[in-house]
Amino acid sequence: MLVGAKDMTVNDIKSNASPTPQVVVENVRKTFSSKGREIVALAGIDLTISSGEFVAVLGPSGCGKSTLLNALAGFSLPTSGRVIANGAEVTHPGPDRGMVFQEYALFPWMTVAENVAFGLEIKKMKKQLIREQVDRLLEKLQLLEFRDRFPKDLSGGMKQRVAIARVLALDPPIMLMDEPFGALDALTRRTMQDELLRIWMEFRKTIVFVTHGIEESIYLADRVVVMTYRPGTIKRLVPVELSRPRDVASPRFIALQKEVSALVMEEQMRSRRDERPA
Ligand code: ADP
Ligand code: MG
Repeated sequence: MLVGAKDMTVNDIKSNASPTPQVVVENVRKTFSSKGREIVALAGIDLTISSGEFVAVLGPSGCGKSTLLNALAGFSLPTSGRVIANGAEVTHPGPDRGMVFQEYALFPWMTVAENVAFGLEIKKMKKQLIREQVDRLLEKLQLLEFRDRFPKDLSGGMKQRVAIARVLALDPPIMLMDEPFGALDALTRRTMQDELLRIWMEFRKTIVFVTHGIEESIYLADRVVVMTYRPGTIKRLVPVELSRPRDVASPRFIALQKEVSALVMEEQMRSRRDERPA
């Protein structure tokens, strides 16, 4: 919750994963038809995510990461199999699953504060309460001085902070993130990764984070789900047993990065072969 959570540094962060499953993906398959051809985007996906766990979904472009995330979000349902979130089958989007996209998806005609307040207005929360909650959140995300600015006046990192604040305002237990830092420069990206780790710990969220960044996945996650390319299956579940903050230059980090890179490269090669003109 927003109230009373103390400020933390990345140094305090241990995993907050508990053994309670929060998301269960059961034998999920998803096909699309494109130009009369069937594309198997996902096949035989089984995955259990614990409450409070930080999971990264990693793989080359086109391997089905967004398709999987959209199935968890309820935006696009599996062709067969099912997804259970918070004990209920996912059949539509719900307030228990917040989504952050790469394109910040902010309303350009609303100020930062109005963007963050949007979901609470829909819930018809009292104006005064909304204001308090929004300002508390903006303060925690170092956005308070920007509360009356419009998205066009903000940097990419700031916009993404607002997008995260907007999801946090609704306090969903699960945060789904689709390459959220993909458009940011390297330095801003690292800052946002650290910020996200703080948020994850402080707000005790379960996070499913889609990326094609190998280092990013190992820097952030408790567990990396490496996917295969067409059909999208789980190639390997890689636990990251490194304490945080993680040192990307440490031998253990580099060894793990090498191992995961080899897995991803195999799939990258397959995707390249596939995309070569016939
Ligand atoms: P990723 O997010 O890993 O880049 P996606 O989940 O977006 O991959 O896509 C997986 C595969 O499914 C790709 O081959 C993509 O072209 C195909 N695909 C995704 N959405 C659609 C759609 N709406 N219609 C047809 N094909 C789709
Ligand atoms: Mg994608």
